[in-house]
Amino acid sequence: MSKGTKVPGYMQGKGSRNPRGIIGDREIRYKCSLQNTILDVLRGRPGWQEVPGQNNIQPNVNQANPKQAGFQSIPPITRNSDGDWDFYWCDREWLAQNYDTMFLYEHQKILHFRNHYELTRKNLMVKNLKRLKKQTERELGKAEGQSFEFFPTTYELPSEYHIFVEEFKKNPGIIWIMKPAARAQGRGIFLFRRLKDITDWKKGEYQPLSDPNREVPETYVVQRYIENPYLIGGRKFDVRVYVLVVSYNPLKVWLYRSGFARFSNTRFSLDSIEDTYVHLTNVAIQKNAPDYDPDKGCKWSTQQLRKYLSAKHGVEAVKKAFKGIDNIIIKSLQSVQKIIINDKHCFEMYGYDVLFDSDLKPWLIEINASPSLTASGKEDYDLKFGLLNDLLNVLDLENRLTGKEKRVGGWDLLWEDGPILADDGNMECAPNGTTASIPNSFLGCHNERKRQLRELYTAAQSIKKS
Ligand code: ADP
Repeated sequence: MSKGTKVPGYMQGKGSRNPRGIIGDREIRYKCSLQNTILDVLRGRPGWQEVPGQNNIQPNVNQANPKQAGFQSIPPITRNSDGDWDFYWCDREWLAQNYDTMFLYEHQKILHFRNHYELTRKNLMVKNLKRLKKQTERELGKAEGQSFEFFPTTYELPSEYHIFVEEFKKNPGIIWIMKPAARAQGRGIFLFRRLKDITDWKKGEYQPLSDPNREVPETYVVQRYIENPYLIGGRKFDVRVYVLVVSYNPLKVWLYRSGFARFSNTRFSLDSIEDTYVHLTNVAIQKNAPDYDPDKGCKWSTQQLRKYLSAKHGVEAVKKAFKGIDNIIIKSLQSVQKIIINDKHCFEMYGYDVLFDSDLKPWLIEINASPSLTASGKEDYDLKFGLLNDLLNVLDLENRLTGKEKRVGGWDLLWEDGPILADDGNMECAPNGTTASIPNSFLGCHNERKRQLRELYTAAQSIKKS
């Protein structure tokens, strides 16, 4: 090792620059900026210890060359003792403010990639998808480009207003949905049929704003409204799918088996397009509906949904529909693969929102980098508790696994620089008698995570011993 090379903290002996020593010899120190299920999971994890003080660690600023910060070669100049964490579930704002001036030791893991918004801002997600679609058509032909037809026609406003108007005039009578690009929980969304509705809105919207933090004019997307959603009991729903990316280069993606469908509380109809309780399935909106029942909620587990759809349409039709979700996940991640600042310290757990239409075709509605981890009831708590515990099992800071696993608890490895195929023992959702290779994708299938983890750790231990 040359004289100038700095040794990452985890490689140094106890008592030197990283007084806490190597993970494995000691507790794992974590920070968490949220007060919900994730904190319960971290607190309940054997051998993990909370670093006192929320969100107040000092970044290890490298004043001399801040551009290079975030890379291993830069030594920390200042280290607050609070900065001695191994794992940090931080919020996006914290990362945005600190990442560029932060030094991370080899072993440290932190939530979020620096520019996660490339996928999670509604306008940027569509821009990136359109670009990869075009590139695919150029290089592989129009037919291949069809595999990108899972996001509704979308334009950014105000920049693409004129193209939108042209498109609008070509399709008179259809419904459009207008959404602020960077807001969440259904805020600021409305549906419209006439161009006049949006010119009126434009006049109001672009007046001086009372909120100084909002862009002027605020970026919106206008999107073709899916007028024929799949309905259950006359109600519309969308599906929350959890996806974990542990690396963008190579792209390594895990898909969680469990999730939920969020139903609207009111029967679907196109007669009342101004009624958000009918058209927006966000829990944040639905819980304010006059007849909302908090005990019943408005959720189904993805298992329940898969079972229902399989009984109604057959296993094969449902497999095809769910395969469409895998395609959405992979294509969307590939669309930003070259743009996301890949950093081995970072990981991201995305919440995908997918809507089925009446032909069971899945549509991508949006991707969240901070899906809600607040539980809406016991079942929801159990789901999120298992999900997050298994996420930590995949990251494996304890170093208990071999690194070759295709399934860890409820997470299945979907992609690692290419599609992953299932092992024989992992075919619960495959049709009877199938021996052909099937993708390692089990959304909505059994999730006996505890049993699986027991077997997994026993197997990993004996492999490691030998
Ligand atoms: P937010 O980030 O505010 O939740 P979304 O894009 O997820 O915004 O939209 C909120 C809800 O509106 C979705 O959960 C879905 O029910 C409905 N929705 C959004 N876009 C469409 C669309 N193009 N067609 C049909 N429904 C949509």
